[in-house]
Amino acid sequence: MATVATDTGAARVVDAVKTYGTGEAQVRALAGVTVAFPRGRFTAIMGPSGSGKSTLMQCVAGLDRLTSGAAYIGDTELSTLSKEKLTLLRRDRLGFIFQQYNLVSSLTARENIVLPLTLAGEHPDAAWLDQVVGTVGLGNRLDNLPSQLSGGQQQRVAVARALVPKPEIVFADEPTGALDSSTGTEILTFMRRAVDETAQTIVMVTHDPHAASFADNVLFLADGQIIDEMPDPTTERVLDRMKKFEA
Ligand code: ADP
Ligand code: MG
Repeated sequence: MATVATDTGAARVVDAVKTYGTGEAQVRALAGVTVAFPRGRFTAIMGPSGSGKSTLMQCVAGLDRLTSGAAYIGDTELSTLSKEKLTLLRRDRLGFIFQQYNLVSSLTARENIVLPLTLAGEHPDAAWLDQVVGTVGLGNRLDNLPSQLSGGQQQRVAVARALVPKPEIVFADEPTGALDSSTGTEILTFMRRAVDETAQTIVMVTHDPHAASFADNVLFLADGQIIDEMPDPTTERVLDRMKKFEA
C-alpha cells in the first residue's frame, strides 16, 4: 500500500480548464479545478446541471482532453500519452459505469461482464467473478442478452463489468439515474461494499442526495469550479447543502 505521505491520489487534476467551442459560443465547462481522488475511497461529485460534473469525470478518466492543466491517473499525466497508450491505460486500469449501460447487444450478460478481461487477453479470477455476479444479483439471467433484461438488470451487468477486473478506479456517471430507487440502492450498496471490502476507488457523478450519501466525500461543483465538499455525507445534510446553494 502507498504511504500516506506520497499518495497523491488514485487520480487527480491540477488547474484543470476545459472549454468547448470558440468566440461567443465558447463554454468554460471547467474553470480551473484542482482535486485529488483518494485511493480506496468513494467520492461523489454533485452540482447543478451544466456545472461540469461529466466534463471533470471524462477528463480525469481520459475520455476527453483538458484545454489546459493536467490530469493524472496515479503518476501518469494523461496528456503525455499517445492515443493508443491512453486507450490501453483506460482498458487496463480503469472501469466505467454509465447511466445508459453501454452493453454489447450481441453478447450475453456473462460475456459482457468478462469482456474487458477477454479484450485484455486475461481470465477472470473465478471466485471473485462468482462473488461479484452473486452480489449484483443477476441469478439465472447470466445467459440472457441485454435486450432480454430490465434496465435495472442491465445496469447490474454494467456494474459487474466495471468491478470484475478490479480496476484502479471505477468512474460512474449517474449510474443509478435510470433505475427505480430500490434497484439503485442495491447497486450503491454493492459499490460501497467494493470500497469497504476490496479498497476499490470509486468516483461517481450524481444529482441524487441519497446516492451521494453512500460516498466518503462529496465534492460540490458550480460553474466549473469546486465550491465545497462534505466528508461523511448523509442524505439530509446533502439536501440541506443543495438548498443553501439554490438560495
Ligand atoms: P454536468 O455533467 O454537470 O451536467 P457537463 O460537464 O456535461 O455538465 O457540461 C458542462 C458545460 O459544458 C455545459 O454548459 C455544457 O453545455 C457544456 N458542454 C459539455 N459537453 C459539451 C460539448 N461536447 N460541446 C459543447 N459544450 C459542451
Ligand atoms: Mg453530466
